[in-house]
Amino acid sequence: MRVLVTGGAGYIGSHTVLQLLVANHSVLIADDFSNAKPSAVTRLEELAGQSIPVCRVDLTDEAATLALFDDAIAGGQPIEAVIHFAGFKAVGESVAKPLAYYRNNLDTTFSVLRAMDVHGVRQFVFSSSATVYGENPVRERTEDMPTYATSPYGWTKVMVEQVLRDLAVADDSWRIALLRYFNPVGAHASGRIGEDPSGLPNNLMPFVAQVAVGRREKLAVFGDDYDTVDGTGVRDYIHVEDLAAGHVAALERIGLRDDALSVWNLGSGHPESVLEVVAAFARASGREIPYEVVPRRPGDVDAYWANPSKANRELGWSATRTIDEMCADTWRWQSQNPNGYPD
Ligand code: UDP
Repeated sequence: MRVLVTGGAGYIGSHTVLQLLVANHSVLIADDFSNAKPSAVTRLEELAGQSIPVCRVDLTDEAATLALFDDAIAGGQPIEAVIHFAGFKAVGESVAKPLAYYRNNLDTTFSVLRAMDVHGVRQFVFSSSATVYGENPVRERTEDMPTYATSPYGWTKVMVEQVLRDLAVADDSWRIALLRYFNPVGAHASGRIGEDPSGLPNNLMPFVAQVAVGRREKLAVFGDDYDTVDGTGVRDYIHVEDLAAGHVAALERIGLRDDALSVWNLGSGHPESVLEVVAAFARASGREIPYEVVPRRPGDVDAYWANPSKANRELGWSATRTIDEMCADTWRWQSQNPNGYPD
């Protein structure tokens, strides 16, 4: 298939692009490079051994998005499916800048869906998030649980999911996948592509990696008084390569299914605490990870993880990489690229 990958230069997008190419799909990346660097695409091209078409475009611009689809037809390679990664993703920032988050995450989706509608393209894979489960007392999340959000970022995911559900009801020729990611970490085994957060990392794994490499003095552990194995927050970490494989599996499966819309959790199903991640990273890197326990982060949920059995069963997919492999691959990327991608 010829797949438009929005946000394809970003962390999860880039790993997915590579796996799509390995699976013999052809790819067009659309990215505005607001949170990604062009050198990520150069690295991808080296790894793939082929050039990858990239369009620098602001997808909130509907005319520009339509032109992307028209140009692909004019070039003899019409777009047949879309994986929509593009979006703002920092929870804390979304609380400070709700308008920017709602505008960007909703408008990019509307532009892309409108362009697909106009061109009769019906296969759409959406980057959703386990954050849509909100604060359910049942820690093991299943796809049938109600959705709710605790931040503007989370609400954009809940809202886009609802738009897609309504679209699937209105026209059952759509084939839509809502992929609910748990906590993506790790990097490609080559160490050439990985996560490159700008500024202070918000997420645990890149922060730990920057402490290990000496860019930050110590980790702040947000609370050790939760009702969990050691009092620290518990999450389901999934290797980005497993996550990328989940996208390829979903893309290849939706066209064969009768359902206009399908929802899948992409997680490992294995809960890990903050201190368990710190210990695994210390083992993988051979470095000590200094940390200090500080008060809980506002809005944090104590513990949740995926029940991935629906994706296991329906996609024939499962996350196979362990937390030790996640840390080893993160460390390879971080130690080979202490300052992330070159400018
Ligand atoms: N966390 C932490 N220190 C950090 C970043 C995160 O202790 O600097 C904890 C956080 O409280 C949570 C877990 O690590 O329990 C995962 O947090 P992250 O921000 O990576 O993901 P999310 O909260 O979105 O699941």
